[in-house]
Amino acid sequence: MHPVARFPEEWKESLAARGERPFRAQQIFKWIHARGVLEPERMTDVPEALRSWVREEGVPLVAETAEIHRSSDATRKLLLRMSDGATIETVVIPANKGNEQDADLAGVDDEEDDERNTDDLATGNVILAESARGTGRPGGTKGQGARVTQCISTQVGCAMGCIFCASGVAGLKRHLGAHEIVAQVILGRRALEPSEELRNIVLMGMGEPLHNYEPVARALRLLTHPMGMNLSPRRITVSTSGLVPEIERLGRDFAGQIGLAVSLHAADDAKRTALMPVNRKYPLAQLMAALRAYPLPKRRRIFIEYTLVAGKNDDLDEARQVSRLLKGLPVKINLIPMNPIEASSLGTPPMERVYAFQQLLIDDGYTCFVRKRRGDDVAAACGQLALLGAKPRIRSRPS
Ligand code: SAH
Ligand code: SF4
Repeated sequence: MHPVARFPEEWKESLAARGERPFRAQQIFKWIHARGVLEPERMTDVPEALRSWVREEGVPLVAETAEIHRSSDATRKLLLRMSDGATIETVVIPANKGNEQDADLAGVDDEEDDERNTDDLATGNVILAESARGTGRPGGTKGQGARVTQCISTQVGCAMGCIFCASGVAGLKRHLGAHEIVAQVILGRRALEPSEELRNIVLMGMGEPLHNYEPVARALRLLTHPMGMNLSPRRITVSTSGLVPEIERLGRDFAGQIGLAVSLHAADDAKRTALMPVNRKYPLAQLMAALRAYPLPKRRRIFIEYTLVAGKNDDLDEARQVSRLLKGLPVKINLIPMNPIEASSLGTPPMERVYAFQQLLIDDGYTCFVRKRRGDDVAAACGQLALLGAKPRIRSRPS
């Protein structure tokens, strides 16, 4: 196991093999995960010889920040280079206060705010996040820091082949390891201002998290480890195109504590399959059954993401079908006007269509937001920045 993905017990084993004392395991784990230190020379209470070994194990090499693009709305997009040269992106998104109309969200209800339920959140490839009701508390959990949501990637490219998505068009290049998923958060925290606090994590960057289940699950356990970053699982949201067996597995493995966002994009099978080939394998009836069975804690809801693509899934009939399909499920719906991507001529519907779609769902009693795009001036859509950096071969790869 890569050292950045080791649990304390696993450190203990590798240390024991070297004749080291067991308490060193916790020390090293805490440096990496609680303090975010990947440089052995900064692990000051670890003896010199052990530090050199930690270096040889490859801890410092997991990933480096190659570029940081900061947009005018303070969203930061980090381009990270992995040790094999692959590039991925992660986005740090501060919550904007006071903009109520666009609330967005995909993510995470605020645990301590259960009653008031601020819908804080975030997401997206780049997109969005506002406080839904604009009434969020001033600070974060611990301090008064501005709340930040980080969007992380789980694969280089994606095998699911959604036709409106840059990662999907590029195809899957490789999975990320748990160490590379966690390293995004470690490096992302370094890009925070002192006044900011990482509050939510969304797995909505490049890749299909549930197509890389084991490493993703390990990363979730590391991020929530009490001796490490100790993030609440409820502040982490996994976004999926709808891999039914893995939705069930996630629900079981984490007892429903991890937030779930599902990319719907159409309410009938033919349309959905045309946009996202994964629907052929897991059609809507199966997907809906998996959502109904997800062991959601009380007062929590599943986020439904719906990317509106001009002329494909944006008319009012479609909105009516969405309304029928989701009836009775505890959901919040996020409409995402498609971000144009270079590899496709598909485009964004006019905003009046977007708002009409939203209004129909609101009139039917749903909580429904239009996600505001964030960080538009630093990169357009899903995966684009990293893909530009990596200059992939563009090919389509239906699943
Ligand atoms: N693979 C997962 C998570 C990553 S994609 C999933 O599909 O859910 C995260 C979200 O970004 C998805 O809802 C996807 O539909 C959306 N997305 C991808 N490309 C987009 C684009 N060009 N414009 C708007 N949203 C896009
Ligand atoms: Fe993959 Fe999600 Fe993009 Fe579809 S939208 S291709 S599942 S990253």
